[in-house]
Amino acid sequence: MSEEVQIAVCGNILDAEAVKSLLEENEVNAWLMRDDGDGTIPGQTFVQGIKVMINVEDKETAKELLKQATADTSEDPAWKCSKCGEEIEGQFSDCWSCGNSKLEK
Ligand SMILES: [Zn+2]
Repeated sequence: MSEEVQIAVCGNILDAEAVKSLLEENEVNAWLMRDDGDGTIPGQTFVQGIKVMINVEDKETAKELLKQATADTSEDPAWKCSKCGEEIEGQFSDCWSCGNSKLEK
């Protein structure tokens, strides 16, 4: 008998579905649970949050997947050097061409 754990709570169904499908693409069985505060009221549309649930044995895999997914979206965008106009990748803080800093606008 495997235990279920909550891996994420999303504010809306679209976010929750996105997390769920990301996990399922990677063979982690995931399902959604509505957190409606105090018990279940039939027909209630007010939802506080959608829990994304997984089996406890998939927890480490799921965590890793979610970490990767959030890392991807928080990646620094490419920037343009204000001094020489060179296009620099987001992970570099200085222009490789003229040494100008990203922060110097
Ligand atoms: Zn430059």
